Amino acid sequence: MSVKGTLYIVSAPSGAGKTSLVKALLKQDQQVRVSVSHTTRDMRPGEQDGVDYNFVTMDMFDGLIAQKQFLEYADVFTNKYGTSQVWVKSELDKGIDVILEIDWQGAEQVRQLMPDAVSIFVLPPSQGELRKRLTGRGQDDVSVIDLRMSQAVSEMEHYPEFDYVVINDDFDIALTQLQAVLTAQRLQRDVQCVRHADLLKDLLSV
Ligand code: GDP
Ligand code: ADP
Ligand code: 5GP
Repeated sequence: MSVKGTLYIVSAPSGAGKTSLVKALLKQDQQVRVSVSHTTRDMRPGEQDGVDYNFVTMDMFDGLIAQKQFLEYADVFTNKYGTSQVWVKSELDKGIDVILEIDWQGAEQVRQLMPDAVSIFVLPPSQGELRKRLTGRGQDDVSVIDLRMSQAVSEMEHYPEFDYVVINDDFDIALTQLQAVLTAQRLQRDVQCVRHADLLKDLLSV
């Protein structure tokens, strides 16, 4: 029997730092990959198609829904976002952990379909700091930032639905905490029993 990968859901209000945290985590952890979502939003400066997102038109997105390509999808801030079903399942089957950076609506859908998923909500240290980060990122228009700030509280209200909460005040501390969630998950007895079956057999032989 082999160990399947674990599915992690990371959600946060826009600007809380989830993309930065997940990018930093991936640099240090070869056992985990991030799902590249499809989106209908415009590409930001510096973003690459197929790397940050698969950027598609509304018509293409609707076609993918019709073909049942998505594990989940949702309307977020006037655009559509969705997760590729085939890719996620094939990585998990290979024993690779997968992170979904998705909103709370997507998290709700994934929890229903895959109850073993581990979910983490990232919060900013204050509303003022959230606005500062959204502005400081310098990639969205003021109207887009205002829309995202206006939705932040109603998004953050969903934190009780998540297994873990990480407050991203000091970046390095938040990163260590995120890593700790993955480490604890990998050390669970039922996972270790499968991964170290031979060792356990040897240790317990008389
Ligand atoms: P950012 O999160 O502030 O960098 O802004 P984005 O435009 O990249 O994402 C906006 C929102 O869409 C965030 O809340 C993301 O979590 C969410 N999102 C991104 N990809 C997906 C997805 O595949 N599915 C769902 N449901 N939400 C997504
Ligand atoms: P999200 O993906 O949640 O929208 P980002 O990762 O794009 O958020 O982060 C938003 C902005 O805040 C970026 O400019 C990022 O560099 C900055 N940022 C992230 N974490 C911190 C932190 N702990 N302290 C200060 N700035 C941060
Ligand atoms: P693998 O060799 O594990 O099948 O794929 C190598 C890499 O290609 C993956 O880690 C992933 O980054 C990318 N990749 C392959 N297929 C897909 C896909 O359908 N969607 C996304 N988003 N990335 C993919």
